Amino acid sequence: MKIPQKRTKIVATLGPATSNKDVLLSLIKSGVDVCRLNFSHGKQEDHQKVIDIIREINNKYKTNIGILADLQGPKIRIGLVKDGGINLINGTQIKITTNECIGDDNQIYITYPAFPQDVKAGEVILLDDGKLQMRVVETNRKDTVICEVVHGGILTSRKGVNLPNTKVSIPSLTEEDLVNLDFALANDVEWIGLSFVRKSEDIIDLKRIISRSGKTSRVIAKIEKPEAIDNIDSIIAVTDGVMVARGDLGVECPMQEVPVLQKMIIQKCSKASKPVIVATQMLESMITTPRPTRAEVNDVANSVLDGADAVMLSGETSVGDFPQIVIETMSNIITHVENTSYPYYKNKELDENCPTYMADAVCSSAVFLADKTKAAGIIAMTSSGYTAFQISSQRPKANTYIFTSNRNLLNTLSLLWGVRGFYYDKFDSTDKTISEVNNILKAEKLVESGDVVINTASIPIQKKGKTNMIKVNIID
Ligand code: PEP
Repeated sequence: MKIPQKRTKIVATLGPATSNKDVLLSLIKSGVDVCRLNFSHGKQEDHQKVIDIIREINNKYKTNIGILADLQGPKIRIGLVKDGGINLINGTQIKITTNECIGDDNQIYITYPAFPQDVKAGEVILLDDGKLQMRVVETNRKDTVICEVVHGGILTSRKGVNLPNTKVSIPSLTEEDLVNLDFALANDVEWIGLSFVRKSEDIIDLKRIISRSGKTSRVIAKIEKPEAIDNIDSIIAVTDGVMVARGDLGVECPMQEVPVLQKMIIQKCSKASKPVIVATQMLESMITTPRPTRAEVNDVANSVLDGADAVMLSGETSVGDFPQIVIETMSNIITHVENTSYPYYKNKELDENCPTYMADAVCSSAVFLADKTKAAGIIAMTSSGYTAFQISSQRPKANTYIFTSNRNLLNTLSLLWGVRGFYYDKFDSTDKTISEVNNILKAEKLVESGDVVINTASIPIQKKGKTNMIKVNIID
């Protein structure tokens, strides 16, 4: 299957608009690299159908589409409200209760049992992505909080609640998350996203459960709370990847801070060689129209220039009217930026005290050599994927081709900037392996006679081992 060759990857959230095989195939042909299943919506049986389709497409078309299972985390919601919507009037008071009820002008239910204990007078309550705002007047510290409406409007059932000033005591993985996590692990999804991460322990706890299950799924920390910003270094240190979840981040933090936070997070991830996804409202207007606003085009382009590994679509592909046009539009923006103005190749500072220093130095040197020789490709062998993360994070102009005998890893690597994975399971001798992988790329027309390529591997050649060899080759 011919797929657009862009470096920055596309994560598409699937939903009713994109859950059938033909639509999914058209999205993949147009440039989707990773499919996101949002566990805040949909039933497990629906997610199962989509997972089965993606795996079937991967088998049939030899694609490596990864799956990101996005867990809802400690998302707080209000309950059902009378007639599907109530009108909150500025200056009036309303009770928020932890006793389940149908909301009306007098009281609304909140799905956060410790809310009256955790909240303090004066704190802000945002509803429906910040469209409505209330202020806490008083709490009985048992089951009821009295609030004043600051910015009113129509509040409909089950809307999200953000508490930017409150130290929320809900555990990072709820009962529902644990059930969905079991399901995701049983399906060997490559990436698990955790929403509303607050501290590194949230990620460590999730990774412990994954490792106890014997699975290898990697974790994406969704950064959408001020506490996560405060703890960003320790979170990046333990996570496998990050998402700048701008929807909730822009509600929980002053929204004017989001562009600068996005750049800060991307730079830190790049330094730590952790992939980073920029998410939410990238081409929002395309949910209902076939052309984006110019501001949206700028947002995608600037996120690519900021150095994101991937840009993400939510409603645009899950419920939108033009999912394929959205992917084509995003692919075109990415390709244009990458062909005209992308700041390729960053020579990275290495940490001599890091246990992986030697392998890091080899990867860094491979990228340096590729730059100096104007190589057409960096061709690496890996079993853990470590080499791919290292090479990708330096944003080489040369294409990065990763060969591995670990099939599951191929789908994982689809999220990484610039990486294309290939299955290869013969490990005879270094010379033979290098010659074979180079020939595979030549047969695929990804390199041609006379091209310079940089091969890396571990000697002696084996399934496991740290990258310790670089060879500069010219394709026969
Ligand atoms: C976000 O808030 O930007 C986000 C990606 O999370 P979700 O879509 O789960 O709300």
